[in-house]
Amino acid sequence: MKLVTRTALGWPVSAAPSQPTAKGVKVHYLGSPVSTKLLADHKECLALWKDIRRSHLANKAEGYSDVAYNYAGCPHGYLLEGRGRGRRTGANGNQALNRAHYAIVGLVGSSGLTEPPDAMLSAIRDGIDILRGDGAGKEIKGHRDGHATACPGGPLYAWVQKGAPRPAVDDDEEKPATGGGKGQAKPVVDLSQLVAAARSDPAKKGTPVTYAGTKTVEQALVKERLLAKGLADGHFGSATVAAYARLQRRYGYTGRDADGIPGKTTLTRLGKAHGFTVKD
Ligand SMILES: [Zn+2]
Ligand SMILES: [Zn+2]
Repeated sequence: MKLVTRTALGWPVSAAPSQPTAKGVKVHYLGSPVSTKLLADHKECLALWKDIRRSHLANKAEGYSDVAYNYAGCPHGYLLEGRGRGRRTGANGNQALNRAHYAIVGLVGSSGLTEPPDAMLSAIRDGIDILRGDGAGKEIKGHRDGHATACPGGPLYAWVQKGAPRPAVDDDEEKPATGGGKGQAKPVVDLSQLVAAARSDPAKKGTPVTYAGTKTVEQALVKERLLAKGLADGHFGSATVAAYARLQRRYGYTGRDADGIPGKTTLTRLGKAHGFTVKD
């Protein structure tokens, strides 16, 4: 799962009303032209998602308190947080429909980018699974079920009707770098590359992973209960920096020595406990 949180998007906690349970999830599309430029550059996805929120907040007729959707799935397999878990959507057509189902939008439209890539279907599926883990029932429907609209468009609706299956090949998800199997060499984490990722990733949230070894370290931080599993996404972003700072404090460092940027001593110690070696 590659989740881009509201925090990463620079958004405050959602002001949407709480909705602890629902019958399931409804899938949407954007219903307007979507540029195929999106495919070339994930930054365009983040910009589009921010634009959608801005336009929803500016929509006085609807009186939206936030972007209308709970999540969006982008063509690169990122799940972009909207209202998130436990919040009522504003996207399903009316208040009764909004109470009945949460809403996830695929970043495809009525022209341009209309076919959801497998990575997008995976991301939408990730969103469905998150919502199911937190109050959503089994139903998976399209916006057009129960409301007069073309949404979510032909290709996405065909997938919804099949039960929104997770695509078999999920290229975009990096293989977890677990180590220590019989006859397998331990993963090696390069300290300088890791530090470079830690220094650069917060500014580039949601972009492709800069250093694969980050995931190995994140998985160790998850096992140390210092990082939430969903945040072990391969990016050494602000959540990972904060988790690493907690590790440094746990190891007895304070002040600037616990700034969340890995050093050789702490990383080696973490590696010993979790089966990776450190190269600098
Ligand atoms: Zn819709
Ligand atoms: Zn994207």
